[in-house]
Amino acid sequence: MSILLEAEHLTKIFTQRGKNPFKAVNDVSFTLKKGETLGIVGESGSGKSTIAKLLTRLTDITEGTLKFEGKDITRLKQSQLKEVYGDIQMVFQNPVGSFDPRRTLGDGIGESLRNRGMKKADVEKRVAELLEQCGLEKEYAKRYPHEVSGGQCQRAAIARALAVEPKVLICDEATSALDPATTQSILQLLKDINKRLGLTILLITHEMEVVKRICDRVAVIDKGELIETGSVSEIFSNPKTALAQIFIQSTFHIELPQEYMEQLSAQPSAEKNKPIIKFEFTGRSVDAPLLSHASKRFGIDFSILMSQIDYAGGVKFGFVIAEVTGEEDAISEARFYLIDNNVKVEVLGYVE
Ligand code: ADP
Ligand code: MG
Repeated sequence: MSILLEAEHLTKIFTQRGKNPFKAVNDVSFTLKKGETLGIVGESGSGKSTIAKLLTRLTDITEGTLKFEGKDITRLKQSQLKEVYGDIQMVFQNPVGSFDPRRTLGDGIGESLRNRGMKKADVEKRVAELLEQCGLEKEYAKRYPHEVSGGQCQRAAIARALAVEPKVLICDEATSALDPATTQSILQLLKDINKRLGLTILLITHEMEVVKRICDRVAVIDKGELIETGSVSEIFSNPKTALAQIFIQSTFHIELPQEYMEQLSAQPSAEKNKPIIKFEFTGRSVDAPLLSHASKRFGIDFSILMSQIDYAGGVKFGFVIAEVTGEEDAISEARFYLIDNNVKVEVLGYVE
Protein backbone atom coordinates (compact mmCIF):
# COMPACT_ATOMS: atom_id res chain seq x y z
CA MET A 1 0.00 0.00 0.00
CA SER A 2 1.43 3.35 -0.90
CA ILE A 3 1.64 6.13 1.62
CA LEU A 4 -0.70 9.08 1.20
CA LEU A 5 0.00 11.23 4.21
CA GLU A 6 3.11 11.17 6.31
CA ALA A 7 3.46 12.99 9.62
CA GLU A 8 7.02 13.11 10.95
CA HIS A 9 7.68 14.42 14.45
CA LEU A 10 4.76 16.85 14.32
CA THR A 11 4.72 19.28 17.21
CA LYS A 12 2.33 22.12 17.93
CA ILE A 13 3.02 24.72 20.57
CA PHE A 14 0.31 27.28 21.23
CA THR A 15 1.60 30.62 22.43
CA GLN A 16 -0.85 33.03 23.94
CA ARG A 17 -0.05 36.41 25.35
CA GLY A 18 0.29 36.37 29.13
CA LYS A 19 0.32 32.57 29.25
CA ASN A 20 3.00 29.90 29.17
CA PRO A 21 3.46 28.24 25.77
CA PHE A 22 1.44 25.02 25.61
CA LYS A 23 2.54 21.92 23.73
CA ALA A 24 -0.73 20.45 22.45
CA VAL A 25 0.93 17.96 20.06
CA ASN A 26 4.32 16.48 20.91
CA ASP A 27 6.54 14.69 18.38
CA VAL A 28 3.77 12.74 16.66
CA SER A 29 4.74 10.51 13.73
CA PHE A 30 2.45 8.26 11.71
CA THR A 31 1.59 7.37 8.17
CA LEU A 32 -1.74 7.12 6.45
CA LYS A 33 -1.74 4.51 3.72
CA LYS A 34 -3.86 4.73 0.60
CA GLY A 35 -7.24 3.07 1.07
CA GLU A 36 -6.97 2.37 4.79
CA THR A 37 -9.10 3.53 7.68
CA LEU A 38 -6.91 4.77 10.51
CA GLY A 39 -8.41 5.63 13.88
CA ILE A 40 -6.89 8.18 16.21
CA VAL A 41 -8.30 7.65 19.67
CA GLY A 42 -7.68 9.72 22.79
CA GLU A 43 -9.40 11.39 25.70
CA SER A 44 -10.92 14.83 25.40
CA GLY A 45 -8.18 17.47 25.31
CA SER A 46 -5.46 15.02 24.26
CA GLY A 47 -4.73 16.94 21.06
CA LYS A 48 -6.75 15.04 18.44
CA SER A 49 -8.42 18.04 16.82
CA THR A 50 -5.11 19.90 16.83
CA ILE A 51 -3.57 17.01 14.88
CA ALA A 52 -6.45 17.26 12.38
CA LYS A 53 -5.82 21.00 12.04
CA LEU A 54 -2.11 20.39 11.47
CA LEU A 55 -2.86 17.85 8.76
CA THR A 56 -5.21 20.25 6.99
CA ARG A 57 -2.84 23.14 7.75
CA LEU A 58 -5.67 25.05 9.41
CA THR A 59 -3.03 25.84 11.98
CA ASP A 60 0.73 26.24 11.48
CA ILE A 61 3.06 23.39 12.26
CA THR A 62 5.57 24.39 14.97
CA GLU A 63 8.01 21.57 14.31
CA GLY A 64 8.16 18.46 12.18
CA THR A 65 7.34 17.60 8.60
CA LEU A 66 4.10 16.87 6.80
CA LYS A 67 4.12 15.12 3.45
CA PHE A 68 1.19 14.51 1.13
CA GLU A 69 1.83 11.97 -1.63
CA GLY A 70 5.53 12.38 -0.98
CA LYS A 71 5.42 16.16 -1.34
CA ASP A 72 6.56 18.27 1.61
CA ILE A 73 3.63 20.58 2.44
CA THR A 74 4.85 21.66 5.90
CA ARG A 75 5.56 25.24 4.97
CA LEU A 76 3.44 25.76 1.86
CA LYS A 77 1.58 29.06 1.87
CA GLN A 78 -2.22 29.04 1.94
CA SER A 79 -2.35 30.00 -1.74
CA GLN A 80 -0.06 27.09 -2.65
CA LEU A 81 -2.13 24.72 -0.54
CA LYS A 82 -5.29 25.17 -2.62
CA GLU A 83 -4.53 22.19 -4.79
CA VAL A 84 -3.87 19.86 -1.84
CA TYR A 85 -6.89 21.17 0.07
CA GLY A 86 -9.36 19.61 -2.32
CA ASP A 87 -7.71 16.27 -1.73
CA ILE A 88 -8.10 16.46 2.04
CA GLN A 89 -11.66 17.02 3.25
CA MET A 90 -13.01 17.16 6.77
CA VAL A 91 -16.25 16.25 8.53
CA PHE A 92 -16.93 17.56 12.02
CA GLN A 93 -19.00 16.75 15.08
CA ASN A 94 -21.73 19.33 14.49
CA PRO A 95 -23.01 19.02 10.90
CA VAL A 96 -25.95 21.41 11.37
CA GLY A 97 -23.61 24.22 12.36
CA SER A 98 -21.40 23.57 9.35
CA PHE A 99 -24.16 24.43 6.85
CA ASP A 100 -25.44 27.94 6.20
CA PRO A 101 -28.92 28.00 7.83
CA ARG A 102 -30.29 30.28 5.10
CA ARG A 103 -29.34 27.96 2.26
CA THR A 104 -30.53 24.53 1.26
CA LEU A 105 -28.37 21.44 1.78
CA GLY A 106 -28.17 21.01 -2.00
CA ASP A 107 -26.80 24.54 -2.26
CA GLY A 108 -24.16 23.77 0.35
CA ILE A 109 -23.16 20.46 -1.19
CA GLY A 110 -22.86 21.98 -4.67
CA GLU A 111 -20.93 25.09 -3.62
CA SER A 112 -17.45 23.75 -4.28
CA LEU A 113 -18.59 22.48 -7.69
CA ARG A 114 -20.04 25.88 -8.67
CA ASN A 115 -16.81 27.48 -7.49
CA ARG A 116 -14.98 25.22 -9.88
CA GLY A 117 -17.15 26.51 -12.72
CA MET A 118 -19.47 23.53 -13.13
CA LYS A 119 -22.74 24.36 -14.94
CA LYS A 120 -25.95 24.62 -12.89
CA ALA A 121 -27.63 21.57 -14.42
CA ASP A 122 -24.50 19.46 -13.95
CA VAL A 123 -24.16 20.59 -10.34
CA GLU A 124 -27.74 19.52 -9.64
CA LYS A 125 -27.14 16.15 -11.19
CA ARG A 126 -23.94 15.62 -9.25
CA VAL A 127 -25.56 16.74 -5.97
CA ALA A 128 -28.34 14.18 -6.49
CA GLU A 129 -25.68 11.54 -7.13
CA LEU A 130 -23.74 12.50 -4.00
CA LEU A 131 -26.89 12.42 -1.86
CA GLU A 132 -27.72 8.98 -3.17
CA GLN A 133 -24.20 7.77 -2.44
CA CYS A 134 -24.69 8.91 1.13
CA GLY A 135 -28.07 7.24 1.53
CA LEU A 136 -30.32 10.29 1.11
CA GLU A 137 -33.05 10.77 -1.47
CA LYS A 138 -32.50 13.62 -3.90
CA GLU A 139 -35.40 15.58 -2.39
CA TYR A 140 -33.10 16.34 0.53
CA ALA A 141 -31.28 18.83 -1.70
CA LYS A 142 -34.23 21.20 -1.18
CA ARG A 143 -34.23 20.96 2.60
CA TYR A 144 -32.68 23.42 5.01
CA PRO A 145 -30.25 22.24 7.74
CA HIS A 146 -32.87 22.63 10.49
CA GLU A 147 -35.34 20.48 8.53
CA VAL A 148 -33.34 17.26 8.83
CA SER A 149 -32.17 15.03 11.69
CA GLY A 150 -28.59 15.07 12.98
CA GLY A 151 -27.79 11.82 11.20
CA GLN A 152 -29.25 13.05 7.90
CA CYS A 153 -27.34 16.29 8.22
CA GLN A 154 -24.13 14.34 8.82
CA ARG A 155 -24.85 12.36 5.66
CA ALA A 156 -25.26 15.67 3.79
CA ALA A 157 -21.94 16.88 5.27
CA ILE A 158 -20.24 13.72 4.04
CA ALA A 159 -21.82 14.24 0.60
CA ARG A 160 -20.43 17.79 0.58
CA ALA A 161 -16.97 16.51 1.49
CA LEU A 162 -17.13 13.94 -1.32
CA ALA A 163 -18.18 16.52 -3.93
CA VAL A 164 -14.60 17.43 -4.82
CA GLU A 165 -13.53 13.76 -4.96
CA PRO A 166 -10.99 14.00 -2.15
CA LYS A 167 -8.28 11.44 -1.49
CA VAL A 168 -8.61 11.62 2.28
CA LEU A 169 -11.58 12.19 4.51
CA ILE A 170 -10.75 13.33 8.03
CA CYS A 171 -13.66 12.77 10.41
CA ASP A 172 -13.23 14.64 13.69
CA GLU A 173 -15.72 13.17 16.19
CA ALA A 174 -18.17 12.88 13.30
CA THR A 175 -20.49 10.58 15.26
CA SER A 176 -20.02 11.99 18.77
CA ALA A 177 -23.23 14.00 18.75
CA LEU A 178 -25.36 11.15 17.40
CA ASP A 179 -27.37 8.44 19.17
CA PRO A 180 -25.95 4.88 19.07
CA ALA A 181 -28.15 3.62 16.22
CA THR A 182 -27.44 6.67 14.03
CA THR A 183 -23.73 6.36 14.91
CA GLN A 184 -23.77 2.80 13.58
CA SER A 185 -25.45 3.85 10.34
CA ILE A 186 -22.97 6.68 9.74
CA LEU A 187 -20.03 4.36 10.47
CA GLN A 188 -21.49 1.88 8.03
CA LEU A 189 -21.71 4.64 5.43
CA LEU A 190 -18.06 5.58 6.01
CA LYS A 191 -16.94 1.97 5.71
CA ASP A 192 -19.01 1.64 2.56
CA ILE A 193 -17.44 4.75 1.02
CA ASN A 194 -14.01 3.48 2.00
CA LYS A 195 -14.64 0.17 0.25
CA ARG A 196 -16.61 1.43 -2.75
CA LEU A 197 -14.62 4.56 -3.61
CA GLY A 198 -11.33 3.43 -2.10
CA LEU A 199 -11.33 6.64 -0.08
CA THR A 200 -8.73 6.83 2.70
CA ILE A 201 -10.27 7.71 6.05
CA LEU A 202 -8.74 9.19 9.19
CA LEU A 203 -11.24 8.74 11.97
CA ILE A 204 -10.67 10.85 15.05
CA THR A 205 -12.66 9.87 18.12
CA HIS A 206 -12.69 9.51 21.90
CA GLU A 207 -14.64 6.24 21.57
CA MET A 208 -12.83 2.93 21.03
CA GLU A 209 -16.23 1.52 20.09
CA VAL A 210 -16.12 3.59 16.88
CA VAL A 211 -12.59 2.43 16.05
CA LYS A 212 -13.57 -1.17 16.67
CA ARG A 213 -16.37 -0.96 14.12
CA ILE A 214 -14.56 0.28 11.06
CA CYS A 215 -10.83 0.91 11.45
CA ASP A 216 -7.94 -1.15 10.10
CA ARG A 217 -5.33 0.48 12.30
CA VAL A 218 -5.41 2.60 15.41
CA ALA A 219 -3.17 5.19 17.04
CA VAL A 220 -3.67 6.04 20.72
CA ILE A 221 -2.97 9.65 21.75
CA ASP A 222 -2.31 10.74 25.32
CA LYS A 223 -1.50 14.33 26.32
CA GLY A 224 -0.39 15.22 22.81
CA GLU A 225 1.80 12.15 22.39
CA LEU A 226 1.22 9.07 20.29
CA ILE A 227 1.72 6.26 22.81
CA GLU A 228 0.65 3.18 20.89
CA THR A 229 -0.07 2.23 17.33
CA GLY A 230 -0.94 -0.98 15.54
CA SER A 231 -3.59 -2.89 13.67
CA VAL A 232 -6.97 -3.07 15.41
CA SER A 233 -6.50 -6.79 16.01
CA GLU A 234 -3.00 -6.22 17.48
CA ILE A 235 -4.18 -3.51 19.85
CA PHE A 236 -7.31 -5.39 20.90
CA SER A 237 -5.49 -8.66 21.46
CA ASN A 238 -2.43 -7.26 23.12
CA PRO A 239 -2.73 -3.65 24.31
CA LYS A 240 0.62 -2.47 25.64
CA THR A 241 -0.36 0.70 27.45
CA ALA A 242 -2.77 1.09 30.35
CA LEU A 243 -4.67 3.71 28.39
CA ALA A 244 -5.29 1.39 25.44
CA GLN A 245 -6.54 -1.23 27.91
CA ILE A 246 -8.93 1.28 29.46
CA PHE A 247 -10.23 2.27 26.02
CA ILE A 248 -10.84 -1.36 25.12
CA GLN A 249 -12.59 -2.11 28.41
CA SER A 250 -14.81 0.92 27.84
CA THR A 251 -16.32 -0.90 24.86
CA PHE A 252 -17.77 -3.45 27.27
CA HIS A 253 -20.50 -2.81 29.73
CA ILE A 254 -19.68 -4.99 32.69
CA GLU A 255 -21.98 -4.62 35.63
CA LEU A 256 -23.26 -7.46 37.72
CA PRO A 257 -26.85 -7.19 38.96
CA GLN A 258 -27.12 -5.30 42.24
CA GLU A 259 -28.54 -8.30 44.17
CA TYR A 260 -25.49 -10.33 43.18
CA MET A 261 -23.08 -7.61 44.23
CA GLU A 262 -24.75 -7.46 47.67
CA GLN A 263 -24.35 -11.21 48.21
CA LEU A 264 -20.73 -11.26 47.14
CA SER A 265 -18.13 -11.75 49.86
CA ALA A 266 -14.48 -10.95 49.18
CA GLN A 267 -13.14 -14.09 50.93
CA PRO A 268 -14.48 -17.65 50.84
CA SER A 269 -16.17 -18.91 53.99
CA ALA A 270 -17.90 -22.13 55.08
CA GLU A 271 -21.23 -21.02 53.60
CA LYS A 272 -20.01 -18.72 50.81
CA ASN A 273 -17.57 -20.86 48.90
CA LYS A 274 -18.66 -20.68 45.27
CA PRO A 275 -16.40 -18.33 43.32
CA ILE A 276 -17.76 -15.84 40.83
CA ILE A 277 -15.08 -15.64 38.20
CA LYS A 278 -14.54 -13.26 35.33
CA PHE A 279 -12.83 -14.84 32.33
CA GLU A 280 -11.43 -12.38 29.86
CA PHE A 281 -10.71 -13.59 26.34
CA THR A 282 -8.32 -11.59 24.17
CA GLY A 283 -7.08 -12.21 20.64
CA ARG A 284 -4.25 -14.19 22.27
CA SER A 285 -6.59 -16.65 23.95
CA VAL A 286 -6.51 -20.01 22.28
CA ASP A 287 -9.44 -20.29 19.90
CA ALA A 288 -11.04 -23.42 21.35
CA PRO A 289 -14.11 -24.10 23.48
CA LEU A 290 -12.01 -23.55 26.59
CA LEU A 291 -14.76 -23.34 29.23
CA SER A 292 -16.38 -26.47 27.89
CA HIS A 293 -13.02 -28.29 27.90
CA ALA A 294 -12.27 -27.12 31.44
CA SER A 295 -15.69 -28.27 32.59
CA LYS A 296 -15.20 -31.81 31.25
CA ARG A 297 -11.56 -32.15 32.14
CA PHE A 298 -11.80 -30.97 35.74
CA GLY A 299 -15.40 -31.97 36.49
CA ILE A 300 -16.62 -28.49 37.34
CA ASP A 301 -19.66 -26.47 36.26
CA PHE A 302 -20.03 -22.95 34.95
CA SER A 303 -23.27 -21.10 35.43
CA ILE A 304 -22.94 -18.03 33.21
CA LEU A 305 -24.20 -14.79 34.74
CA MET A 306 -23.08 -12.41 32.06
CA SER A 307 -21.13 -12.54 28.86
CA GLN A 308 -20.10 -10.33 25.98
CA ILE A 309 -18.01 -11.55 23.09
CA ASP A 310 -17.16 -9.35 20.15
CA TYR A 311 -15.01 -9.25 17.05
CA ALA A 312 -12.64 -6.52 15.88
CA GLY A 313 -10.07 -6.74 13.14
CA GLY A 314 -10.81 -10.44 12.75
CA VAL A 315 -10.10 -11.44 16.36
CA LYS A 316 -12.55 -12.59 18.98
CA PHE A 317 -12.44 -11.05 22.42
CA GLY A 318 -14.68 -10.37 25.38
CA PHE A 319 -15.54 -11.78 28.77
CA VAL A 320 -17.68 -14.29 30.59
CA ILE A 321 -18.67 -13.97 34.23
CA ALA A 322 -19.73 -17.28 35.75
CA GLU A 323 -20.52 -18.91 39.06
CA VAL A 324 -18.22 -21.92 39.30
CA THR A 325 -19.14 -25.10 41.22
CA GLY A 326 -16.87 -28.03 41.96
CA GLU A 327 -14.08 -29.26 44.23
CA GLU A 328 -11.75 -26.47 45.33
CA ASP A 329 -8.69 -28.20 43.85
CA ALA A 330 -10.48 -28.87 40.55
CA ILE A 331 -11.48 -25.21 40.26
CA SER A 332 -7.92 -24.19 40.99
CA GLU A 333 -6.55 -26.51 38.31
CA ALA A 334 -9.10 -25.25 35.82
CA ARG A 335 -7.97 -21.68 36.53
CA PHE A 336 -4.37 -22.60 35.69
CA TYR A 337 -5.47 -24.43 32.56
CA LEU A 338 -7.33 -21.31 31.34
CA ILE A 339 -4.47 -18.98 32.28
CA ASP A 340 -2.14 -21.24 30.29
CA ASN A 341 -4.42 -20.71 27.29
CA ASN A 342 -4.12 -16.93 27.65
CA VAL A 343 -7.45 -16.32 29.33
CA LYS A 344 -7.33 -13.66 32.05
CA VAL A 345 -8.95 -15.02 35.19
CA GLU A 346 -10.21 -12.84 38.03
CA VAL A 347 -12.17 -13.96 41.08
CA LEU A 348 -14.75 -11.27 41.78
CA GLY A 349 -15.94 -12.79 45.06
CA TYR A 350 -17.77 -15.73 46.60
CA VAL A 351 -21.43 -16.67 46.97
CA GLU A 352 -23.44 -19.43 48.62
P1 ADP B 1 -9.10 17.03 21.56
O1 ADP B 1 -9.57 17.26 20.17
O2 ADP B 1 -8.31 15.76 21.72
O3 ADP B 1 -10.19 17.10 22.56
P2 ADP B 1 -7.67 19.53 21.16
O4 ADP B 1 -6.72 19.23 20.08
O5 ADP B 1 -8.89 20.30 20.80
O6 ADP B 1 -8.06 18.20 21.94
O7 ADP B 1 -6.91 20.34 22.29
C1 ADP B 1 -5.71 19.86 22.87
C2 ADP B 1 -5.21 20.89 23.87
O8 ADP B 1 -4.77 22.06 23.17
C3 ADP B 1 -6.27 21.34 24.85
O9 ADP B 1 -5.68 21.48 26.12
C4 ADP B 1 -6.70 22.69 24.31
O10 ADP B 1 -7.13 23.53 25.33
C5 ADP B 1 -5.43 23.21 23.66
N1 ADP B 1 -5.71 24.11 22.54
C6 ADP B 1 -6.40 23.80 21.42
N2 ADP B 1 -6.46 24.84 20.57
C7 ADP B 1 -5.81 25.86 21.18
C8 ADP B 1 -5.50 27.24 20.81
N3 ADP B 1 -5.89 27.73 19.64
N4 ADP B 1 -4.81 27.97 21.69
C9 ADP B 1 -4.39 27.44 22.87
N5 ADP B 1 -4.61 26.18 23.27
C10 ADP B 1 -5.31 25.39 22.44
MG1 MG C 1 -11.54 17.46 19.43
